[in-house]
Amino acid sequence: MTRYELFTEEHEAFRASVKDFVQRELAPHAQEWEEKKDFPREIYERCGELGLFGLKYPEEYGGTGPDMIADAVVNEELTLCGAGGVAAGLGAHKDLGSYYIYRFGNQEQRKRWLVPGIQGKAISALAVTEPHAGSDVAALKTKAVKDADHYVITGTKMFITNGSKADHVVVAARTGGEGYKGVSLIVVEKDTPGFTANRIATVGWWTSHTAELVFDECRVPAENMLGEEGSGFISIMKNFQWERIVMALAAVRAAQKTLDDAIAYAQSRTAFGRPVAKFQTWRHRFADLETEIHAMRCLTYHALRKMAAGEDAMREVSMAKWMACDLDWRVADEALQVHGGYGYMMEFPVQRAWRDSRLGPIGGGTTEIMKEIIARTYGL
Ligand SMILES: Cc1cc2nc3c(=O)[nH]c(=O)nc-3n(C[C@H](O)[C@H](O)[C@H](O)COP(=O)(O)OP(=O)(O)OC[C@H]3O[C@@H](n4cnc5c(N)ncnc54)[C@H](O)[C@@H]3O)c2cc1C
Repeated sequence: MTRYELFTEEHEAFRASVKDFVQRELAPHAQEWEEKKDFPREIYERCGELGLFGLKYPEEYGGTGPDMIADAVVNEELTLCGAGGVAAGLGAHKDLGSYYIYRFGNQEQRKRWLVPGIQGKAISALAVTEPHAGSDVAALKTKAVKDADHYVITGTKMFITNGSKADHVVVAARTGGEGYKGVSLIVVEKDTPGFTANRIATVGWWTSHTAELVFDECRVPAENMLGEEGSGFISIMKNFQWERIVMALAAVRAAQKTLDDAIAYAQSRTAFGRPVAKFQTWRHRFADLETEIHAMRCLTYHALRKMAAGEDAMREVSMAKWMACDLDWRVADEALQVHGGYGYMMEFPVQRAWRDSRLGPIGGGTTEIMKEIIARTYGL
């Protein structure tokens, strides 16, 4: 019998090896990297060496898959590295930029960008969001105008993870008229004249490079287009399912860690002559959160199981995404509360869990958008 009818013994052994890497090579540096608001590029290469970027891909590109369950295990374990931005930077490369190139690119494009991506030698990003178009993807305005065998790209992208670190960026741009049918995906390399990336300060995820990207008449070869002209919007919607399920899985794992740490703190802190964890109000709040986390784990694994089986899981993925991310944030808020004044101090890690978890209900499609999708699946 496999755990949750998902994870085989091989997956569990793999999980142990990823956990070992995360706990030995990432977690001990989390504080230092937070202070620097950055983490080394070599970490991408190290992940490449360990095969953590290749689980979704066949051997011909240097992968060891496809094994989507093993790939999801990587997200679950990376989230425990102690710095949300590190997991976000590695995840945006693994599940967004690189995965788009594999899913929607041709052989040539995969060899050029995916192979070094799997090795961790080239970092990728995905740029969809714009200053005036986030949830409403079909309203994006960045233009790509055909000029002989090139596209000339002009526009601005906003909040792009890995934006100021990436070697190549998958850009959603308008090659046609208004609406979703006019959107295409084009890869822009970082040294393309007219391309600039400006890092933006964020509330959490301090170590990841969140950036505004400006394209000022960037000339890009027409062969950099991923898939057919006008197919970009559909491709974005397809990959959202994977982005959202891994966000949900990571949120459940993060919530459990934050709660475990909060309970340990409440057991060691005394007030009125007894451990804080012994007050009924806290025992019940912890019991509530343990219950919610357990329920969320079952829902996220159910959604993952359906996806891995090739079934339509849009409803379950949307449910898992909003609820797990919301739960992670609420757990972090309760964890901060049980720390009292120490929870508000920068030297206690709970503040980071609190700041980092706040992105979950916003990124990858907001909670409100998830509920719109769920309502639609019920014909509402
Ligand atoms: C740290 C960070 C990293 C990110 N990384 C990336 C990245 O790598 N690549 C990328 O392309 N994007 C990225 N994003 C962008 C992210 O996906 C968007 O912020 C998100 O989709 C919301 O879009 P918006 O910010 O434009 O908000 P808006 O779309 O302007 O929404 C504002 C508010 O209105 C609500 N709203 C909008 N439409 C509806 C509706 N129909 N019904 C009800 N409420 C609605 C929203 O839920 C939200 O509360 C990142 C964002 C952040 C903060």
